Amino acid sequence: MEIIKTIKEMKNFARSAQAAGKTVALVPTMGYIHQGHLSLMVQARQACDVVVASIFVNPLQFGAGEDYEEYPRDLSRDAALIKSAGAAAIFAPSVAEMYPKGYQTFVEVEKITGRLCGSSRPGHFRGVTTVVSKLFNIVRPDQAFFGQKDAQQVLVLKKMTSDLNLDLEIITVPIVREADGLALSSRNIFLSPEHRKAALVLSRSLREAEAVIKNGERDAQTVLNQLKKAITAEPAARIDYVEVVSTTDLQPLETLEGEVLIALAVFFGKTRLIDNIMLTV
Ligand code: AMP
Repeated sequence: MEIIKTIKEMKNFARSAQAAGKTVALVPTMGYIHQGHLSLMVQARQACDVVVASIFVNPLQFGAGEDYEEYPRDLSRDAALIKSAGAAAIFAPSVAEMYPKGYQTFVEVEKITGRLCGSSRPGHFRGVTTVVSKLFNIVRPDQAFFGQKDAQQVLVLKKMTSDLNLDLEIITVPIVREADGLALSSRNIFLSPEHRKAALVLSRSLREAEAVIKNGERDAQTVLNQLKKAITAEPAARIDYVEVVSTTDLQPLETLEGEVLIALAVFFGKTRLIDNIMLTV
């Protein structure tokens, strides 16, 4: 497995695989690899001949006062894990390589980026769509793999891909969880043992909401009230948002029908965790 740091070398690597008739998958990450990331890579390996995993903590998608500086970084640890998942290359460019002096071009999806995480993290999705556009142009993958963990990100990237007529397929991979339900995240290492325990309220309350809906509840507000009550019962939890929305436009639902996304972002201390479930009602 190669570790590639420059755009020029990454392009050469991808172009020669493509010239040899190989299909290429891209798995963008910010590193500090866990089983969630690896499940994307394993699925990518099953679908394509060559898997490129990127590691780039993208400053553009972090707001002022967020955890850009603290975000965990460990390339040698990551490389061993990514190699074991069967990737052919890691693309790990520097910030200066991706955004050289004088950089001034950005990609922005409107409307759906103003909801959920976009409303509490202004500019976040502009950073995501810009960096992912650059990665798509550099690697030119046949397929790119993203986790359902970041449900809104997947919708935004699918919108960008179709609006800009990009020649690739976005594949969504289910959320990987710890045995006790906590969704894997690079940020989980920031949780104190107490907050780690308290954070179980997220997956538990989502499972409870799912059960209530399966039992016939169709009023979104009732489900939302129950979720908020369960989460606020946990003193360490501070809700950023909890929403029951349509998967097409991310607008709040009154009645649960069709494809429904229940998404939440909750702080435990300074650590902001997200989780969600998607249901067809
Ligand atoms: P990140 O490094 O957090 O930007 O995540 C890189 C990719 O891995 C994104 O597509 C995430 O949605 C995905 N991902 C992160 N955590 C999980 C998880 N627990 N299960 C599945 N995919 C995940």
